[in-house]
Amino acid sequence: MKYVGAHVSISGGVENAPVNAYRIGAKSFALFTKNQRQWVAAPYSAENMERFHQRCQEFGYTADQILPHDSYLINLGNPDKEALEKSRSAFLDEMLRCEQLGLKLLNFHPGSSLKKVSEEECLTIIAESINITLDKTKSVCAVLENTAGQGSNLGYTFEQLAYIIDKVEDKDRIGVCIDTCHAFAAGYDLKSENGFQETFEHFNEVIGLKYLKGMHLNDSKKGQGSHVDRHEVLGKGELGIETFRRIMRDPRFDRMPLILETPDEENWAEEIKMLYKLEEHKSL
Ligand SMILES: [Zn+2]
Ligand SMILES: [Zn+2]
Repeated sequence: MKYVGAHVSISGGVENAPVNAYRIGAKSFALFTKNQRQWVAAPYSAENMERFHQRCQEFGYTADQILPHDSYLINLGNPDKEALEKSRSAFLDEMLRCEQLGLKLLNFHPGSSLKKVSEEECLTIIAESINITLDKTKSVCAVLENTAGQGSNLGYTFEQLAYIIDKVEDKDRIGVCIDTCHAFAAGYDLKSENGFQETFEHFNEVIGLKYLKGMHLNDSKKGQGSHVDRHEVLGKGELGIETFRRIMRDPRFDRMPLILETPDEENWAEEIKMLYKLEEHKSL
């Protein structure tokens, strides 16, 4: 059973996300917990929370099918103390919002060294940030997203993600989301059959498949190892459709959110339909 969906809009209120997901035939969805370009937002009203809950029930989305994404402003590895504090409190706020919505996961980019500290130091700061946040919250799992390694963004190798996980105290509340575009741009060969199998065997050895909580399904505008994060419509980029066919037929990726973050929102309903066809028909 595959949960394919997309990162849908919360415009007009967080309770609109399940409606937007249902309209495009999604069986999962991602959302921002608030406006992702602002540090602070008004708390949810009782009505926001009640409607979100009602609509998720109505349209058949459980917490296992929903993968919230945090704000891009947050850098949990910021070497500057004051900036780090700001990021940590914003991240805590997002975790608490997830709890208020009854959600189980929060997907985020690990952090960036801003080239001011070593990668190891930055990864250690990130792990500390996670530990502090998990201590102050009850249930949500912090889901690290692998990155393309653009600029000084960390989390572009499985080893870096494993380094963070190793330092997180509550292993039940840490996980990983693999973005196919980011992995490919970071240098992992998800394009060839052998490369794909080796990449996930490597993932299993270094991190462990039990930590995989979701995926972002994006084709890549740029080539393998380019370290450039540019998503493309499935089948129109450097990865090509075969990668997504393999994912759709692989039981290792069952029952977790598989989220489109591809550029053309108007095309999401079609992309979701196509993915489910790839699962069914061997000749397509
Ligand atoms: Zn992301
Ligand atoms: Zn992503």
